[in-house]
Amino acid sequence: MTTDNLPPFPSDADLRRLVHFSASDGRIWLAGHRMLLLHLGGLGSLRKELIQTIGFEQTRRVLKRAGYASGLRDAALARQVRPNGSPFEQFTVGPQLHMLEGAVQVTPEHCEFDLEKGSYHGLFRWDHSWEVEVHLRDFGPQTEAVCWMLIGYASGFTTAFFGQQILYKEVQCAACGHEHCLIEGRPLKDWPDAAQMQEDYEADSLLVRIEDLQADLDSLRDSLQPCDDLGDLIGRSKAFEKSIGLLRKAAATQVTVLLTGETGVGKERFARTLHAMSPRAAKPFIAINCAALPHDLIESELFGAEKGAYTGAGAARPGRFERADGGTLFLDELGELPPAAQAKLLRVLQTGEVERLGGTTTRKVDVRVVAATNVDLQAAVEAGRFRRDLMYRLNVYPIAIPSLRERVEDIEPLANHMLQHFMALHNKRVAGIADRALDAMRSYAWPGNVRELENLIERGVIITPPGQMVDVEDLFAVAPPTPQVTVGASGELKRGQSEDLSTLYEELQKRGLSLDALEDGLIQQAVERAGGNLSAAARALGLTRPQLSYRLQRIRER
Ligand SMILES: [Zn+2]
Repeated sequence: MTTDNLPPFPSDADLRRLVHFSASDGRIWLAGHRMLLLHLGGLGSLRKELIQTIGFEQTRRVLKRAGYASGLRDAALARQVRPNGSPFEQFTVGPQLHMLEGAVQVTPEHCEFDLEKGSYHGLFRWDHSWEVEVHLRDFGPQTEAVCWMLIGYASGFTTAFFGQQILYKEVQCAACGHEHCLIEGRPLKDWPDAAQMQEDYEADSLLVRIEDLQADLDSLRDSLQPCDDLGDLIGRSKAFEKSIGLLRKAAATQVTVLLTGETGVGKERFARTLHAMSPRAAKPFIAINCAALPHDLIESELFGAEKGAYTGAGAARPGRFERADGGTLFLDELGELPPAAQAKLLRVLQTGEVERLGGTTTRKVDVRVVAATNVDLQAAVEAGRFRRDLMYRLNVYPIAIPSLRERVEDIEPLANHMLQHFMALHNKRVAGIADRALDAMRSYAWPGNVRELENLIERGVIITPPGQMVDVEDLFAVAPPTPQVTVGASGELKRGQSEDLSTLYEELQKRGLSLDALEDGLIQQAVERAGGNLSAAARALGLTRPQLSYRLQRIRER
């Protein structure tokens, strides 16, 4: 098939500008995506070992999906990079990035699409495919096409770009003796063997089978044991595992639990999980926030009131203790409980009986109390705001819930879980979270903890255009600085020349700041924003902790 007067590829200068080498911290970026500069020989040996271990078929599928994942990520860039380009110019971001990334040389032979009708037909010639090169070297001439990862990339990019499943086939491959490879792409429905093609992009049947068995096993286990479902509690960090370990041990017992931790760490979620894991799971979980109710209402809320006990008490009503009978009562922000209510609470805990306001009879209740506080109860006792005897009664089994900056490795799984949740809630699909955004999240101090992360992810889902990846700008109002080394047309590295730097320089001049003063200011700012956490501040500045300590020491000595 011959060319249909296709315009040539536009200049790829805009794409080359997206590549940033940040050798000082060991990273390379393509816009928001972290990239790797690999040796073809290294990747080739991985490919060869895969083939030798799991066979041609499985390797083909694995590599197709890996390529697909890359194509998907590059598609998110296409419209961002060329917002004013023609649809063809936006589309060619895919083949042009594929070339820039060193995968293959692409020459379009035929390309026609109609965005409205959702029709597509593309034919591209491929030269210098990296997969042909390593495959011929390792296995000699072939009878079937071998550009698996490349085909996956083309399919992933085109699918994400047009928002409908478009898959490619290699009509001919240079590994089979042809002069070059030729690929053809069509919407899935236009391929006669669509089902078979699509199978390559689905989880392996063997893996699916294992997952099915795992699910069967899990449900069997559930029927044998009390529920140990952590629900929304997600994490694998040491700090998190430690709290969960304590929570598990407490669940089986009747012990009164005190949850401590900064605001937003998810104390109510921990309390709910404790309840769900306990033998009380089938009975009510009742929560009350001691700071949210006016002082004169809190007692009637907790302990109930008889008819006419106070102005407005029209009918007798049970308090939360009674409603939680057999189950768990969660007292949030316990430190805010007024003195009179503290005395009554102590009595209920001692006797296991409640007396409604304005009542004369006592009622027996069987309630496990879980209290939570973000204030230092010991300090509140010293200051005379909290009863010492009540503190001892509640502080039998304290569990400290770590702040988000103490569990940095949990940020990514948490963010991805929240992303799924908010995509469902707002009925919108985004492609995921860009590496650079994850990186910025790991450096941030999170004064509002998990709740703040949740707010940011929701904002990200709302702001990010459908099908694209949530990037730093969609999460944080101020983007972190990007590394300042880029690639020139013939591949040479260029340093500096960014607009950000020149604005910063002008600002420096305008304010008459010295370089030392700027450094001191930035360091102090980072420490302040990290809430005094030096590790987080060091990460934010791209320093190691000892480097930061050294500089702080120098500032203090000045
Ligand atoms: Zn090929």
